[in-house]
Amino acid sequence: MDSRLVLVINSGSSSLKFQLVDPSSGQSRASGRVEQIGEASSSVPDHEAALHRAFEQLADEGIDIQTCGLVAVGHRVVHGGNDFYQPTLLNDAVIDKLKELSTLAPLHNPPAVEGIEVARKLLPEIPHVAVFDTAFFHGLPPAAATYAIDREVAQAWQIRRYGFHGTSHEYVSGQAAEVLGRPLDSLNQIVLHLGNGASASAIAGGRPVETSMGLTPLEGLVMGTRSGDIDPGVIYYLWRSAQMDVEDIESMLNHRSGVLGLCGSNDFRKIGELIGSGDSAAKLAYDVFIHRLRKYVGAYLAVLGHTDAVTFTGGIGENDVAVRRDALAGMAELGIEVDEDLNAAPASGARVISATGSRIAVLVVPTNEELAIARDCVSVMAES
Ligand code: ADP
Repeated sequence: MDSRLVLVINSGSSSLKFQLVDPSSGQSRASGRVEQIGEASSSVPDHEAALHRAFEQLADEGIDIQTCGLVAVGHRVVHGGNDFYQPTLLNDAVIDKLKELSTLAPLHNPPAVEGIEVARKLLPEIPHVAVFDTAFFHGLPPAAATYAIDREVAQAWQIRRYGFHGTSHEYVSGQAAEVLGRPLDSLNQIVLHLGNGASASAIAGGRPVETSMGLTPLEGLVMGTRSGDIDPGVIYYLWRSAQMDVEDIESMLNHRSGVLGLCGSNDFRKIGELIGSGDSAAKLAYDVFIHRLRKYVGAYLAVLGHTDAVTFTGGIGENDVAVRRDALAGMAELGIEVDEDLNAAPASGARVISATGSRIAVLVVPTNEELAIARDCVSVMAES
């Protein structure tokens, strides 16, 4: 095979997702996920075993990773801190710096570094590139990026609003411009990335001016298992009065909150069914999720002053008809009208779902972070 392929790796604490992408055609050649890494009952003890397992899965599909025309390995890294805001060719010095950044993102960066190290070991001849989830938001205006806390503390500890899901927000806003047939730099947009993690962004002429996640991916929208915005007072109240330690509180806010914490499920298909059967906890979870989302849409309309498009993406945004309807219902006066039939029509590609008379276009755009990462890899290699 003479095609140029990029292996994109998203290495989490207990799972490793991979996709083999052809960056020029945009086609995915193969993809998969290895789960339960390091868990007691699992046959995958660590990330090295997981990557071997991934190569076996590719071999089952007739793809030999050594001879398939691999030109780069792209690694999704959640936190780039202040230093990394471009796709970056990995070497030992960069990896050391990424390790230092793990204090900023203790839940997310260590498993990514682990994935990088084993992939470099197993594929030593191939260039490895890190693509950062924070990169797109590096240039947020200071007024949006700054927390109103003691500035010396903030500076000493690199505390600012970094934003995450940047690869998705950038890709989706670009696709939305294509669907609308207008230059990206002429458009103001709101992008709602609603997956298990969820975030919103306001983008003016292709440049982000606001986003809902902050120092960590915990801030902002209500998510599958994360609380999103809460009064920080809750944290020291729990610490002081409920005798929860910092790990308990972090774990609760990240893993046992959001819609899961409110109703026992973070699968919106299940939540829809539960609501249908009269489950009041599921109804409240859904209402809290939608309320927060509408609050952000309103805020971002005000931040932008004028927007041309509101775009849904992510597993929920791409698939959940009710969420899209309820997130934007009753906003005709603000210029947003979703067409009920277009919204409900079974479809999978990028599409417009607003009514003909809607001043602001409403779109659904499937995200494709793997393709965006693969293309970033190719651009870094072209420069170096
Ligand atoms: P991740 O943040 O893990 O990448 P995804 O973007 O894949 O998440 O979104 C996963 C979520 O999408 C699921 O938890 C589920 O709630 C939701 N979802 C997926 N398919 C559907 C569907 N057909 N209808 C409603 N929700 C869906």
